[in-house]
Amino acid sequence: MTRDSNEQSAIAQMQERYRQERDRRQVFTGRGALDLTGELAGYLEDHFTPAAPREPLFDEVDALCIGAGFAGLLAGARLREAGLGRVRLVDSAGDVGGVWYWNRYPEAKCDIESLIYMPLLEELDYVPTERYATAPEIFAHAKRIAEHYRLYDDAVFHTTVTEIRWDDAAERWQVLTDRGDAMVTKYLLICNGPLSKVRLPDIPGIEDFKGKAFHTSRWDYDYTGGGPGDPRMPKLADKRVGFIGTGSTGLQCVAPLAEAARELFVFQRTPSTVAVRDNRPIDAAVVRGWPKGWQKRRQENFTRINFGAPVEEDLVKDGWTELYGTMLASPTYRGLTGEALAAEKDRIDFMMMERIRARIDGIVNDPETAERLKPYYAYFCKRPGFHDEYLAAFNRPNVTLVDTGGGGVERMTETGVVVAGRQYDLDLVVFGTGFETETAGRLRLGFEVSGRDGLDLREKWRKGLTTQFGMMIARFPNLFMIPGVNGQAVVTANVVHMTQEYVAHIAHVIAAAEARGAATVEVTDAAEKAWVDTILDRRIDRTAYLEACTPGRNNYEGNVAARPLQNVTFGGGPVEFFEILRRWREAGDFQGLAFDLRHAAQPAVLDNQPAG
Ligand code: NAP
Repeated sequence: MTRDSNEQSAIAQMQERYRQERDRRQVFTGRGALDLTGELAGYLEDHFTPAAPREPLFDEVDALCIGAGFAGLLAGARLREAGLGRVRLVDSAGDVGGVWYWNRYPEAKCDIESLIYMPLLEELDYVPTERYATAPEIFAHAKRIAEHYRLYDDAVFHTTVTEIRWDDAAERWQVLTDRGDAMVTKYLLICNGPLSKVRLPDIPGIEDFKGKAFHTSRWDYDYTGGGPGDPRMPKLADKRVGFIGTGSTGLQCVAPLAEAARELFVFQRTPSTVAVRDNRPIDAAVVRGWPKGWQKRRQENFTRINFGAPVEEDLVKDGWTELYGTMLASPTYRGLTGEALAAEKDRIDFMMMERIRARIDGIVNDPETAERLKPYYAYFCKRPGFHDEYLAAFNRPNVTLVDTGGGGVERMTETGVVVAGRQYDLDLVVFGTGFETETAGRLRLGFEVSGRDGLDLREKWRKGLTTQFGMMIARFPNLFMIPGVNGQAVVTANVVHMTQEYVAHIAHVIAAAEARGAATVEVTDAAEKAWVDTILDRRIDRTAYLEACTPGRNNYEGNVAARPLQNVTFGGGPVEFFEILRRWREAGDFQGLAFDLRHAAQPAVLDNQPAG
């Protein structure tokens, strides 16, 4: 056999192995998520800020953002710049920050370079201290943005939106909440992100466990000791701890838990890929010397590389750009089509995964543990992971990897966790089981939405999403969404980059409506249909790829066929999508939008013209 045919046969064998791993997981029964109400409501408790009583609000603001994470903060900042007076952020958390408010687990960091992830660094003259910033540093930055743009003035926290309703007569949105509010707003922005609903797997007996248990996004430092930014957790020194889940959160939590606990059991359903992270301090003087506009340039450079667009140099040079760059910029890849391209993609994927598997052999001493930690699926089946201490934690004598053979934890009892008939007695169980993300054909907003003439959004979207650019919906005037994972827009590894692009677009439209003195701005049915047609025309059929993956968030737990065809991202990718948005704005004719100018005798005076 030639070298090429040896390699082809190794790839074919590996793909067969991937299929077996997928099939093992398809039979997993406890895949559903629990409804965290009643006895389980404690899992959602806010340990960080006590909720203060307050009177319900019935007042009116100019714009209201549901969610005060980076999407809400960026929207608030841009709307302030566009001259809006009262901008209200509403969040179920006790402060701004979104995921960075809740996720204070030990060693929580962002594995996207801080210089491109933390927004508005130039505007606020802040330089992060290290390449991968800690959660406390990112949370502090979120608060800095809120203060800088006076977003605390009208913000309400510990408040969950239950319903939003368009009032045809008043031409305003009504926002109802669990605090009895019926707030009124002219513009309404849905900014509640894909990672806001805690996911606890439906493990039989979960309610019976009498020990301590919490989810990673509600870390109880009273129980463990330590605190955000102080991962020592001395109170765990005599405790047997179980950690369920090995996604990006698990990769970060395991090493500090291994250091702190008497014993640690890590329950694994599917291993993550764990590539090099390589954290290091940032020299603020160097960054301050860069020419103005450096953050946007760096963000664009990162996204371009990750989607195969040409660049002169790799500015970020991290695991993401290296991995995507290796694949998409490979000279063997460019210019190929059809079967040759598919074969080359398989070859590069195989090569990357072999490298990931070899790294495990190089770090983990026990060959059996190393084998169980190896991921067997195509690289983009799961979100890529990056960490430098996770794998080594399994060399410690107090750490045991419990591989559930793809079936997940079997059940829980009063005293612990059962896998393959064996009981593991535990003092503490930590659920690193993530969040409920978009499920095929299901609206995950978390509240009811009705537009013109009481039109129910769920009903409108029964057969699939209909939007313009994923951000505006016909018959839902003055309503804007930050698109989610399948939301007819795009997804970039650096979520903040895409959020900035969406927010710039939304702020531009709102500023234009204000400049015209319009009561409403709304997408026409025709424009909405045109965008849905574009999504369908440019759709890249990833069904075969996703069906071959182990079940998980990326493939709707293996149920790919249930997803409506148009509930996907724009097939041209982010670089082209952002260009489409930019050209649409530059054209200046607001194609596809209808402004209601019936009462526009005296247009509002703006501080600024619409952003470009
Ligand atoms: P996640 O990626 O959804 O991972 C959940 C983990 O729980 C998976 O390993 C899953 O296994 C496992 N699991 C689910 N049910 C189970 C069961 N019954 N028994 C055993 N294991 C079970 O959640 P996450 O790690 O919290 O991450 C959530 C999101 O936050 C991701 O999008 C991630 O990228 C993001 N995040 C980002 C960073 C960053 O640095 N940028 C850091 C942390 C998190 P399967 O894989 O088999 O489903």
